[in-house]
Amino acid sequence: MKKRYTKTLILLMIIISISTIVSASMLIPANEKAKENAKATDHSPVISSDDNNLVLTSPGLEKFVFIHYKKGFGKPTWAKQGKKRSKCYDFLGKGVKWKELSVNYVIDPDNPDGLTEDFVTSAISAGVEEWDTHTSTELFGTYSIDYNSSWDTDTPDGRNELLFGDYPQDEVIAVTVIWGYFSGPPSTREIIEFDVLFDTDFNWGDATNPETAEVMDLQNIATHEIGHGVGLADLYDTACIEETMYGYSNYRETKKRDLNAGDITGIQELYGV
Ligand SMILES: [Zn+2]
Repeated sequence: MKKRYTKTLILLMIIISISTIVSASMLIPANEKAKENAKATDHSPVISSDDNNLVLTSPGLEKFVFIHYKKGFGKPTWAKQGKKRSKCYDFLGKGVKWKELSVNYVIDPDNPDGLTEDFVTSAISAGVEEWDTHTSTELFGTYSIDYNSSWDTDTPDGRNELLFGDYPQDEVIAVTVIWGYFSGPPSTREIIEFDVLFDTDFNWGDATNPETAEVMDLQNIATHEIGHGVGLADLYDTACIEETMYGYSNYRETKKRDLNAGDITGIQELYGV
């Protein structure tokens, strides 16, 4: 009799503890889940929660920002202007790249130019595909559509988001933020997130369409920004003007849609031929 009572008690305790775990996991707020995701990549504390805000705590996590200017504007401090380059590709850090592949991404099609969801997703995914087809590594996975995405400049949220928005500085076409571990031993370096903002100061569209007025070509700029997303840096030497990773663009430009020789060598050095 006593034995049966003990058995029942143990069974009851197991049921209680299981239901506690289940309800606890259901009660984890969204920011805690983001924290869990961030930890899953690195296994060390990355983000702490301060009320409803996520706060960066790890000294290892870094951010790199690439600003893409209209031709004739902007003097990026990192531009190697005046210095002749022997090759037309350059890396973020000393060749930091994605280690957890393949990379999924989020497109927010909301825009003030009346571009359809189909147009925006086609232009961006064509840019993604252009990089993917030039390396044997399956770099990118699938995309999802989310009209409530965010351009994460304070803390990463584990989502690679591409969206339209107003960047406060004039003559900026697009800005890409890269999150990752760029210092320390090479084996520990990796990109963990990239977020792209297409500046609504400009009208966006398809520059190959003769009916369209003066526009920034979405596929052209997206291909360039995604190049940052996979680890390539801007080029400012005019000898590299034909490269997708050349640092300036202009209205109606479409040549960045197709990778040039330097871009291809760069992506293949990072991810394989
Ligand atoms: Zn750039």
